Amino acid sequence: MRRITLFGATGSVGQSAIDLIARDKDSYDVVALTGGRNITQLAKDAVALDADLAVTCYPALYDDLKDLLAGTGVAVAAGPDAIAEAAARPVDWALSAIVGAAGLVPGLEALTHGTTLALANKESLVTAGPLLLGRAKAHGATILPVDSEHSAVFQALVGEKMSAVERVVITASGGAFRDWPIEKLANATLDQASSHPNWDMGQRITIDSASMFNKAMELIETKEFFNVSSDMIEVLVHRESLVHAMVGFHDGALMAHVGPPDMRHAIGYALHWPERKTLPVERLDLAKIGRLTFEAPDEARYPALGIANRVMQEGGLSGAVFNAAKEHALDGFIAREIGFLDMARVVQVTLDKISSQGGLQNASITLDNVLETDRLARIYAGEAIKQLG
Ligand code: NAD
Ligand code: MG
Repeated sequence: MRRITLFGATGSVGQSAIDLIARDKDSYDVVALTGGRNITQLAKDAVALDADLAVTCYPALYDDLKDLLAGTGVAVAAGPDAIAEAAARPVDWALSAIVGAAGLVPGLEALTHGTTLALANKESLVTAGPLLLGRAKAHGATILPVDSEHSAVFQALVGEKMSAVERVVITASGGAFRDWPIEKLANATLDQASSHPNWDMGQRITIDSASMFNKAMELIETKEFFNVSSDMIEVLVHRESLVHAMVGFHDGALMAHVGPPDMRHAIGYALHWPERKTLPVERLDLAKIGRLTFEAPDEARYPALGIANRVMQEGGLSGAVFNAAKEHALDGFIAREIGFLDMARVVQVTLDKISSQGGLQNASITLDNVLETDRLARIYAGEAIKQLG
């Protein structure tokens, strides 16, 4: 039996993972499940999967979770420290599917214990890529990408040498507003930004898809994870969301990964890696689909892409500033304090302010530096939100 832990088990990615695991329950010994507000779901899954431990990140929900799990034999804990402690429990495989920078510490902790980490939490790579990869290396741990584009690149690279790679192309659906006139974007509402044309995902990543901040993060994620230079990475708008990524080689070949827009593919690939096992995902009928389309992204429509390029050039702690400012700007948009286009302005202003103070490029990427930079960026982003709001 494989021992596994799922961080962010109650979210969109977490629930897709549980769907796969529940189909083959006897193969897994579930050590811990972690979640947030939705303790009813957390408790239900903990019982169904016979988990040792259930953890909510909210200390105030400890008693309620304890009540829900009374008499079941599932241990209960709460708070960020309890999640980090859960990450220290020995397992063979863990899924990092917490949303936001809160995924960083549990991810680092799991890697420190040599755990194979299936990484959906792109924010930890954007914020502290070298720290995460360095930790994996130091402890002989493996990180497997779960973001669909990065899983696709990873799969296209099987059996290839990185020295043969000329470029990496990641695709983007274009999000909710791909066909809107640019003039209308400033007035886009929260509801409008929260529905995705192709993927069913958590609200935050759905809004990030509409603004392309999701793709911006994925550019940085690609650079960090595959150790390629920013000028080797391209984004293509691909409305059908069937080709997830392509790897271009020096001989001109492009290896494309084609599959349905269903996260259970990328999660299942990471779960069974290095093998491939049967997965309950749709088999594409390409004759029925008929055609696949690709367009260059319009940088005026998606300023986030330009910001990502800047962050990749600057390197160092600018990814931590970018991610924290983006998370804070997104909070501001969700709270209806700022407009849709203001999110990019907040990120830009925060990056300008912190980089004018110097030290971003050269500071070493330690956990303390990253957390301090994250804290500072949220303060400056908050000030920018007040000015714009
Ligand atoms: P979600 O909002 O649906 O779920 C997030 C999970 O994290 C929940 O279990 C929630 O309880 C938990 N959580 C939230 N805040 C927390 C905190 N402060 N501390 C600990 N736990 C916390 O998010 P999602 O869409 O499943 O995305 C999860 C991660 O996977 C994100 O990093 C996202 O970018 C990435 N991702 C998601 C998809 C997708 O299809 N949803 C695809 C690719 C990558
Ligand atoms: Mg993705």
